[in-house]
This record gives sequence, C-alpha cells and structure tokens, in this order.
Amino acid sequence: MNILLIGPQGSGKGTQARLLCDRFHFSYFEAGAFLRKMAEKNEDLRTYLAGGNLVPGQEMSSYVTTYLDENGLYDNILFDGFPRTLEQYEAFKGWMENKKVNLSLVMLLTISETETVRRLSARRQDPATGKIYNLITDKPPAGVDVSALIQREDDKPEAIKKRLSLYKEQTEPMIAELKKVTEVIEVNGERPIDAIFQDLARTVEERMSR
Ligand code: AMP
Repeated sequence: MNILLIGPQGSGKGTQARLLCDRFHFSYFEAGAFLRKMAEKNEDLRTYLAGGNLVPGQEMSSYVTTYLDENGLYDNILFDGFPRTLEQYEAFKGWMENKKVNLSLVMLLTISETETVRRLSARRQDPATGKIYNLITDKPPAGVDVSALIQREDDKPEAIKKRLSLYKEQTEPMIAELKKVTEVIEVNGERPIDAIFQDLARTVEERMSR
C-alpha cells in the first residue's frame, strides 16, 4: 500500500510521516530531503532550493522515478512532497500505470496560512545531527544547545512567502484533480502532534483492513 501525504509547508507532514513510518514500516520518500542530498553535488539544484523554487516538473519526476526504479521501490512507500504539481502528478501517474503501482491513500493535512508562517519561522535544524526541531511545536530536548541550531535558507521570510504561493498555485490544483479521482482524507493539522497522528494512523489501519 502506497500513501501520499500532502499539506502546506509547516503543516507537520515530516513529523507525521516519520511517526507513520515507525508505526507501519513504510519506506519514507521525502522529496525535500531527497533533493537536498542530491544538491550536495548539483549546483543548479542548490539554487532552486535556496530560493524556495520548485525543481522543474519533468526533471523532478525523472529524478524520483529513476530513484524508485533503481531501488526497486514500488510498494509500501509513504510519499511526502512528491508529486506536488499537476505536471508531476501526471508524470507519476504514467510511471505508476507502467509499473502497476497504486496510490491507495491520499491524506491532506490542513492548516491556515498564518499558522504555517508562524511555524516555519520557528523551524531550526541541528547542524551536527541534521535533526529538525520547531521552537513552537516540537521543541529541542534539554541538552540541545538552541543557540547552535540553524535556520534553513528556505525557512527565511522571503522564501517562505514564495513556497506558500507555489503551494497555492501549483499544489492546490493537483489536490483538486486528486479529489476527482480518489478520496482525499483531510485531517486538521492545527492540533497537537499526537492527536493528528491518532487520526492518520486510524485512517491507515482502516484502509489496510479493507
Ligand atoms: P520541502 O522540504 O518539502 O519544503 O522541500 C524543500 C524544497 O525542495 C522546496 O522548496 C523545493 O525547492 C524543493 N522540492 C521539494 N519537493 C519538490 C517537488 N516535488 N518538486 C520540485 N521541487 C521540490
């Protein structure tokens, strides 16, 4: 069973995706992390990421499907951050048909724009471990030196604005299309991590037992 988790930046997708992968042993495909790793060796990618711009559709879809093919990943995957545009969805759909892969469940974390900006501005990364914290919703534990945490370039105000407008312009039309062809389960993302996780996990369990 493959799952697509969608939501604007800052909706808690990454946190929930990790919890779901721990509970249900999905392979986690996180588009942002996947690209950041590739960007270590690719300057063009570094530029897209730093500016909060999307990697062009064809290029992105081909990176992802090549990676999935090379690693034999066809089932039990939780997708986070891909597909995120209509163009990517169409390309991905073609690949899925070709490989006889299904998307069994689409879940959407909903959150207001004000809350998104508030949360993203509070996101920090530990440069030593790569671990992401949120000074509001997912505080670093005692022992972590908060002053050493860094803010990602694309979590700075100008890039946040860009990423949110891209979500509206590019991802929302894909969600509208998905709603025509499948059920999109909406979960309120403006609640404590645990409460959101209970809803998502219940939905996954229910879908698995069908
Ligand atoms: P995220 O961590 O999901 O917010 O992604 C970080 C950045 O990676 C985005 O701002 C984009 O520059 C890039 N990115 C992530 N996913 C995609 C995608 N599906 N298509 C194009 N660019 C992406």
